[in-house]
Amino acid sequence: MTTAPQLAAADALPSSLVQPLLDGATAGGAPSVEVFAPATGQKIADLPQSSVADIDRAFATARAVQQEWARRPIRERAAVLRRFHDIVLAEQDTILDIVQTETGKSRAHAFDEVGDVAVNARYYAQVAAKLLATRKPRGVLPVLTQVDVRHRPKGVVAVISPWNYPLALAASDALPALVAGNAVVARPDNQTALTALWAIDAAERAGLPRGLWQAVLGRGSVIGHEVIGRADYVDYTGSSATGRTIAQQAGERLIGYSLELGGKNPLVVLADADVSRAAKIAIRACFASAGQLCESMERIYVHDKVYDQFVAEFIEHVKGIELGGGLNYDSDMGSLTFPRQLATVRSHVEDAVAKGATVLAGGRARPDLGPYFYEPTVLSGVRPGMTVYREETFGPVVSIYRVGSDDEAVEQANDTAYGLNASVWTKDIARGREVAARINAGSVNVNEGFIAAWGSADAPSGGLGISGTGRRHGAEGLLKYIDTQTIAVQRMLPIAPLPGMSEELWAKTMTFYFGLMKTLRQK
Ligand code: NAD
Repeated sequence: MTTAPQLAAADALPSSLVQPLLDGATAGGAPSVEVFAPATGQKIADLPQSSVADIDRAFATARAVQQEWARRPIRERAAVLRRFHDIVLAEQDTILDIVQTETGKSRAHAFDEVGDVAVNARYYAQVAAKLLATRKPRGVLPVLTQVDVRHRPKGVVAVISPWNYPLALAASDALPALVAGNAVVARPDNQTALTALWAIDAAERAGLPRGLWQAVLGRGSVIGHEVIGRADYVDYTGSSATGRTIAQQAGERLIGYSLELGGKNPLVVLADADVSRAAKIAIRACFASAGQLCESMERIYVHDKVYDQFVAEFIEHVKGIELGGGLNYDSDMGSLTFPRQLATVRSHVEDAVAKGATVLAGGRARPDLGPYFYEPTVLSGVRPGMTVYREETFGPVVSIYRVGSDDEAVEQANDTAYGLNASVWTKDIARGREVAARINAGSVNVNEGFIAAWGSADAPSGGLGISGTGRRHGAEGLLKYIDTQTIAVQRMLPIAPLPGMSEELWAKTMTFYFGLMKTLRQK
């Protein structure tokens, strides 16, 4: 592995950039917390924290502004998303600096977030009018019963987002809520609050009314309950353990929720795969954002026939990964974001090695580069009983297993309580689709790692099992933020016996009518 030519070089962000963003937060009533850049250890900001009074104020303002916003024509709301799309692309240098500084990830991995927001802003601007149009289904008595199904925004949506993809997860889930006529109160992670505040500021510059999308700041364990206690819907991204708590709190209030949780994602290389391509693309699939990506691959199953070739080529690529923390495209992979992530990565690797696993590449922290750097690491000989076999590492560690058949690959891939993402490699696309359909995951990429499914904004994304419930992206990613209201108008004749008609004759007439409708294959 080559070492970057200099120590991690991320500068703390200039206060001329930071202070105006902090002024935009609905926070300051509670003691502030210090936030540091993971790649360098430099201080980024004293982050104001929201008190209960701040949270009250955020929701009250959001509710007031939402009323007027929901009355605006959808095309006006969509136009804000289009302008937001343009601002994010035009000002990408600024937001990439912020994302990199707050997370420690490489610029290329930060750019994935810019791309994600652009794709989702464009998509929801384009489809909102169609998805939100009033539907006119057939009434119980055709012509006589006229039915409208209207869409009503939930009101104020809470978006509680983590630190690993702070732009994508804060903005791309807020955009469909906003275009559907809701307000959003965001609770970004403290570590990456500036990214969310920048997105809100950019949206206001794109024409979003002030106060419609606000951020309250604080630890989830401190203010999460207060936020959920005031929201009309909760969109949460984070670990499965916290997801259970969120679901309980939302359940107590009988409000809807969407949970995008963890993964232990499998990548399967079948005997007929393009091995060289699989070995190359698997690098991004395993090590994007130093593996701190819910969709990233932590298990690779390779058919016996191509195992040696795949492992040799994959390890060569892994050893070529440049580590570094500069605010430029020079490094391939950045730092972990927290000391606790570094501790988890270390303990998973040490536990596996102590129990007999082999380190094929990496396996070391790199304090010479920055406090939380860890080498991209490949393990073999991982068995049940080792922590890394089942538990999500959420770091740059992948285990490789040899399998003898498609069936064995599918069986192993499904040996998990998670079900977020998977990847299948084969030259036979029909076989790829068939194997994909047998894997228990909300998305499966054939001949890709995660971007094919994730980046297709018209297709829903989300988890099975303990990886979550609810979906983002696609129609599902917007319709979760609305309630339907059915308005049925009865005209001319009642749905009851006509004057002078007995109940018995009415029943016979209706029996004939039901039979006729079935014969005519009517809905
Ligand atoms: P975590 O659950 O500990 O924290 C995630 C966020 O939830 C943090 O910002 C935290 O402040 C907040 N939080 C914690 N307790 C809360 C509470 N009671 N109420 C409200 N908010 C609360 O998870 P983490 O380890 O920091 O994040 C990584 C996890 O997130 C991984 O498991 C990863 O797979 C998952 N993740 C999933 C997706 C997805 O789309 N499925 C995307 C990114 C991350």
